[in-house]
Amino acid sequence: TVRLRFAPSPTGYVHIGSLRTALYNYLFAKGNGGKYIIRIEDTDRTRYVEGSIENLLSSMEWAGITHDEGPMFEDGKLVVKGEYGPYTQSERLDIYKDHIEKLLESGHAYYCFCSKERLDKIREEQKEKGEMLGYDGHCRNIPMEEAKRRVANGEPHVIRLKLPKDREIAFNDLVRGKVIMNTNDSDDQVLIKSDGFPTYHFAVVVDDYLMGITHMVRGEEWLPSTPKQIILYEAFGWELPKFAHLPNILSKEKKKLSKRQGDVAVKDFKNKGYLPEALVNYIALVGWSPEENKEIMTMDEMIESFSFDRVSKSGGVFDVDKLNWVNEHYIKEADIDRLTKLCIPYLVQADMVKEEELNEKYEWVKMIVETARERISTLSQISDYAKQFFGEEVKPENDDVIKMLKLEHVQDLLNTLKDKIKNADVIDAVFGKKVFKVIQKETGVKGKNLYMPIRAALTGQLHGPDIDKVIAIIGRENLIKRIEYVER
Ligand code: GLU
Repeated sequence: TVRLRFAPSPTGYVHIGSLRTALYNYLFAKGNGGKYIIRIEDTDRTRYVEGSIENLLSSMEWAGITHDEGPMFEDGKLVVKGEYGPYTQSERLDIYKDHIEKLLESGHAYYCFCSKERLDKIREEQKEKGEMLGYDGHCRNIPMEEAKRRVANGEPHVIRLKLPKDREIAFNDLVRGKVIMNTNDSDDQVLIKSDGFPTYHFAVVVDDYLMGITHMVRGEEWLPSTPKQIILYEAFGWELPKFAHLPNILSKEKKKLSKRQGDVAVKDFKNKGYLPEALVNYIALVGWSPEENKEIMTMDEMIESFSFDRVSKSGGVFDVDKLNWVNEHYIKEADIDRLTKLCIPYLVQADMVKEEELNEKYEWVKMIVETARERISTLSQISDYAKQFFGEEVKPENDDVIKMLKLEHVQDLLNTLKDKIKNADVIDAVFGKKVFKVIQKETGVKGKNLYMPIRAALTGQLHGPDIDKVIAIIGRENLIKRIEYVER
């Protein structure tokens, strides 16, 4: 069975591109009856950011991209699941130690004692001469006996990969097809750092092998490191996994999408009020298209139709308008109670409803959400949208509204309406519906001539959401104030 992994480094927020990488791993694993794993690559201790793992796991949980193995939340507690652990690299140091020994013995790795000063110096020289930057192999041929003695004496050192010279490395990438590279374009990569920690290149190979990973699916920025990793597989005598390198996500200006161009963190999108199913559906389409170019898809449909041969080789452009369109779709479709719960924080923040009144006012809040869901692109827009329902006065939006309100029969209509509002037991959507029938009976006015002026008076506009709900949302006090404002 296939086993795929998403292997983030805990360096802060979850970039939208990482979400997509995780998603493609997940879709392929699930579509092929396999397992999807999360492994934490935390060997670069200088880049570690507190809280990133929790943030990552909660973002993935929110997105519905659930893994079978690795650290995960269970009933709000952090647990680790799976038979291939530990799934966090800093807990696997002994494993790397054992494995580097094998490479030292077989001559595929060597101790390097070069000081930082020396490395800086050769780097400067290489720059000056316009040569490829990289390690010059200075310690490559130190006899093992001697090297071991120096290590035993406590001399600072790293361990490097002895990369064969001028070897052509060819592999078949599931997205890019045949890729050919030459080892001369790489240098002798550090495998174990002076602090005893492995580098990414070493740990990734050891872990992917030991965890039974069948497909390495990752961003294209890792493509140049693939030959070194292939050499490592060879050195161990291990069978290669399959590779898929995903195109970058680009901004509209065709630059790699970064924080500078606005929101890139999954949390940012969540906070703005994108529904997880919308963000996941949209991001899947940035760089992949299913057959028949279907656009709105559930997770199960995506699992069903995902394949690497329909992932594009060139970068996918992140288009906020398209994302908004997808989000609008899901907002319209969502279960109303779920949507209401998700909208409440925005309304509370805008002081439109108080936390402690939520129980009592739930139906009222739900009506706001019901009317808003047809017209907002993100949930956070609800507070702006709902402004129209608050306040004692509304100004006519344009001359047509003013004209409408000057029609002869309008005064009579508004007086009758005001009277009914004053005398009603409750002002709710049922009242909102019934009151028109009553006014029609009493005044003889019906249809457009009845509805339009009342809407104009109550909202200042000629068009808008269901007027019966609008009446219920505005509520008795402000309805009366709004009518009186028009009468003045
Ligand atoms: N830890 C790497 C990252 O942060 C993973 C690269 C890979 O998937 O091989 O992206």
